[in-house]
Amino acid sequence: MTQDLTLPGPGEASGSAREALTRLPSIDRLLNHAPLAALAAERGSAWVKRAAQDELADQRQRLLRDGATVPNLDALGAAIAARVARLAAPRLRRVINLTGTVIHTNLGRALMADEAIDAAAAAMRGYVALEYDLGGGSRGDRDEVVEQLLLDLTGAEAVTIVNNNAAAVVLGLAALAARKDVLISRGELIEIGGAFRMPDIMKTAGCRLVEVGTTNRTHPRDFETALADSGARAGLVVKAHWSNYAITGFTAAVDDATLAQIAHKHGVPYMVDLGAGALIDLSKYGLPREPLPQESLAAGADVVTFSGDKLLGGPQAGILVGTRTAITRIKKHPLKRALRCSKLTLAALEATLRIYASAHRLHERLPVLALLTRPAVDIRAACERMQPLFARFAGAGFEVRIDECASQIGSGSLPVERLGSAALVLAPVAAKGAGRALDTLSQRLRTLPVPVVGRVHENALWLDCRTLLAADEVTLAQQLAAGCA
Ligand SMILES: *Cc1c(COP(=O)(O)O)cnc(C)c1O
Repeated sequence: MTQDLTLPGPGEASGSAREALTRLPSIDRLLNHAPLAALAAERGSAWVKRAAQDELADQRQRLLRDGATVPNLDALGAAIAARVARLAAPRLRRVINLTGTVIHTNLGRALMADEAIDAAAAAMRGYVALEYDLGGGSRGDRDEVVEQLLLDLTGAEAVTIVNNNAAAVVLGLAALAARKDVLISRGELIEIGGAFRMPDIMKTAGCRLVEVGTTNRTHPRDFETALADSGARAGLVVKAHWSNYAITGFTAAVDDATLAQIAHKHGVPYMVDLGAGALIDLSKYGLPREPLPQESLAAGADVVTFSGDKLLGGPQAGILVGTRTAITRIKKHPLKRALRCSKLTLAALEATLRIYASAHRLHERLPVLALLTRPAVDIRAACERMQPLFARFAGAGFEVRIDECASQIGSGSLPVERLGSAALVLAPVAAKGAGRALDTLSQRLRTLPVPVVGRVHENALWLDCRTLLAADEVTLAQQLAAGCA
């Protein structure tokens, strides 16, 4: 057995590598290099310095590892400039969502209506009467921006708005039942993404969780018994909508009207966490039906909480609607101040709610609804327009075809339902190395200037065109024509 004695041992540089290290320029020399000095004047010296330090550190490692040649000052300068460009690029990047998931949590949930975008932009640019009563010239309440709209749309007596629905649930629990028993069916101890777990939320809000019934079946008498057991400790009865799972088979749950009646008989309020927050019956548009806040309120709920940016299609917000008594208590709780939302949220929410109030062409004006109801022929036509753009992949070991698929609604809304859709499918021709080819392809698309995100499924990359927006089509065509992929 022979041994290559010229290889440096771990952590030990060969003579030539050590010598090469001494030929790397100093930080000061790099910063005085004319193109980098100019860049520092334009972008700020902190970024250029950091990029230069990072580049030098990488070069040292490379030299120690493979003893390669030392790049000249111009080459180092160019590498540093590229690093600065990456540092200066926005971190919150636009992406092209071809997962087909309309309300994609990781890609920012709801897209907003033009009216909402304009309203938020206007509120950013100038002063607005956020908490100012223009009639009396006195201080107002920011919830009033959307109050009347939500009262009209849901039939509630009062409303209050916080940053997101998780905040709305915590606030409702803390305000109505801190240090008290909160009763909820075992089948509704939900965990939704990002570690929102009902038992932990209750603990955080200072409530004592009382599990009622069983995982698959909970009956009115279970609540009666549990409330009788809690006695004076009973603070609240809660129902949480199964947003991201389903319990099927031998099941039973107690409806809103019965639960509200039982709660009230024992002198405690009843709160419903709806999550998704559809404000209209989606079955009108051929979509699965979701429970509506107005239905829970009509059935006797004291408070209903829901998100502004799931099925409602507005900005992220937590909306609490309910009786005057319950909402007044909630608004007085110190957490309300801590969780209150900004003028951006209120401006966009007001504009979105006005679209609902107009009841006019909702499925054209609300992008979430437009994408969820996008006609099959329209999706297929988008696939057909895309297919030629991907023609080059057909020559590079991929089959490129259009196929039917099923889009998810997303964000826990309607977890079981899928919407019939169509995708451009890129499938490796050779079985051998197919996994790696798919990984490489997905990664290439994700590293385009405007990244494209698809879905790997059944040994192929699926680009579901339900969520392909008009502006994305243009960008995609430009990117692929430029040979980026
Ligand atoms: C989504 C959801 C939440 C959390 O809402 P965020 O707006 O994400 O804070 C809470 N409960 C249910 C049932 C949900 O579906």
